[in-house]
Amino acid sequence: MSEKKWSTIILFIIWLLIVPPGIAYFLITQMPESINYAYLLLFIIFGVLTAVFPIMMNGQPITLVMWATLPAFLMYGIAIEMIIMQLSVLAILFVKKSSQKKSHRFFINSIIMFILSTVAAGAFFVVGGKTGSMDFWTLLIGVAVYRLVHTTTNLGLLNMYFEAMGLKSPFTTKDNIFEYATLILILPLAVTFYLMLNMVGIASFLLLGFPFFMTITIIRLHSRSEKINQYIKKAGQIGSELSVMTDEESVSTQFIKKTSELFRADYVFLFTNHDEWLELEKWYEKKRFVDRPFQTVQLGEGIAGMVFEKKEPVIYSKRKDWEQYATNSAPEELESVLCIPLTHNNETNGILLLGSNRKSAFGEYQLKILDLLGSYYIVALEKARYVYEALQRSERCALTKLYNYRYLEEKLHFEMNRMSMGDINDLSLIMLDIDHFKKVNDTYGHQSGNDILYGFARILEKALPENGTIGRYGGEEFVYILPDFSKAEAVDFAERLRLHIKQHAFTIIPDLGEDKYPVKVSVTSSVGVANAPTDTDEAMNLLRNADRALYIGAKQAGRDRVAEYVR
Ligand code: GH3
Ligand code: MG
Ligand code: MG
Repeated sequence: MSEKKWSTIILFIIWLLIVPPGIAYFLITQMPESINYAYLLLFIIFGVLTAVFPIMMNGQPITLVMWATLPAFLMYGIAIEMIIMQLSVLAILFVKKSSQKKSHRFFINSIIMFILSTVAAGAFFVVGGKTGSMDFWTLLIGVAVYRLVHTTTNLGLLNMYFEAMGLKSPFTTKDNIFEYATLILILPLAVTFYLMLNMVGIASFLLLGFPFFMTITIIRLHSRSEKINQYIKKAGQIGSELSVMTDEESVSTQFIKKTSELFRADYVFLFTNHDEWLELEKWYEKKRFVDRPFQTVQLGEGIAGMVFEKKEPVIYSKRKDWEQYATNSAPEELESVLCIPLTHNNETNGILLLGSNRKSAFGEYQLKILDLLGSYYIVALEKARYVYEALQRSERCALTKLYNYRYLEEKLHFEMNRMSMGDINDLSLIMLDIDHFKKVNDTYGHQSGNDILYGFARILEKALPENGTIGRYGGEEFVYILPDFSKAEAVDFAERLRLHIKQHAFTIIPDLGEDKYPVKVSVTSSVGVANAPTDTDEAMNLLRNADRALYIGAKQAGRDRVAEYVR
């Protein structure tokens, strides 16, 4: 049996030994002579209603239930108060969301409430309070002490409980002070209620209950709209953060982290659309990205696949509601789900699924805000993609995917600068030109020439030394920029590369003529090498020197060779 189950069983035994016999004892020994059952019923209704519709302060509920239980205590004594309080505890269980089991929560809260009722009532009698009394000052002092002792003992017991369970207390000092401050509200309300009941009878429930519950409702509506405003504001902030990012990966990562934080989600799954099926691209669980093997979801499969098929967001508050559609990769503890299609210009780019281990963790308005965030995300993602592609276009050659002349020139100036600052001691430049490339084009066609250029670029790229740069200088000419390569090292590298190229056979399908079968083509290359500071200390001169070595030293000397620049 799990540790959790054991602790619930132990709690149940403690509860069984304390609460039912305790209440029975008080019922027998302190039973009031007569009870108005209409009052009793109304007290229970008021207690339960106050408990299940709390006012939230800093995300914590404020306990005002005593405004109904205290008058009951003053009229009928401890046993009746206990029964109303216990019923309120039971009612809260069904409305407050928690990942803990209901039985566990009931036993612990019931035991704590029993102890609080006993201790507070004890304190009330010690300071001279008397139930049934109509003396104003006795009532006031008694009620004040009752409430103060109740609060203090409550905080003490809760802290003990959190410590025993190894949990961090969710209450701040401010929450605690606030809890005491509610005395200002409870004290006059409870005393007035009690006095009115004695003077005007059952109408008091209406006279006090109506304004009380109206006020609570207004405060709750207000705090709900405040909460929605807060959400919209935070979603806007996340949107603007995403919009300035220029790299797709950071946009996705940041989007997932922030969304999980905002919605307090235990899981975030991001699926990308591959036409007709989805790939689970990111799995975020308990504040960490989980590494998973490649995983796909078909149209209509699981919650994500269903949302993908119907293009409609869904919201689920408990496991039972979605279990029948789930795939077997759904986390075991998952309960609440928010799932939306990520749509832009009528196209579904992916699916976002948020999950929580708590039941009813998400509301309808959160679904709408998630939808809003989703569109911020898609726009930011497309912008990042566009920026990346524009940068690629401006720096790379479209055919070979190597850096272009513009980039090479910039890089050459940059490296030369580094040398003048003393960061590097040597800078070599290698220029290659394919021999008789015109013939290749003439024999196999221009497209085949292109294919060879692409393959040639891959060979050069593969041979690229660390920290070096390779680019297409023009036509079938390529340039290596090699920092920290001496002239001799560069010549050596060029020579090995020349041999490697010569031995390589490119497979192409000729685009000239009838025959469309693959043929193997080999090419040779002529190479020029220049070095700074040996030959020059100026960037453009280094290029010119390599070019001269290439044409005079290698091409004119018969091609298929490496030549170094000589003055
Ligand atoms: P060599 O360098 O040995 O003197 O002879 P070559 O035939 O290679 O002559 P050159 O370098 O002067 O001419 C380069 C040829 O490369 C011209 C052109 O047909 C071809 N070429 C240049 N750029 C491309 C390209 O992007 N695609 C294709 N298919 N061919 C290109
Ligand atoms: Mg050539
Ligand atoms: Mg050329």
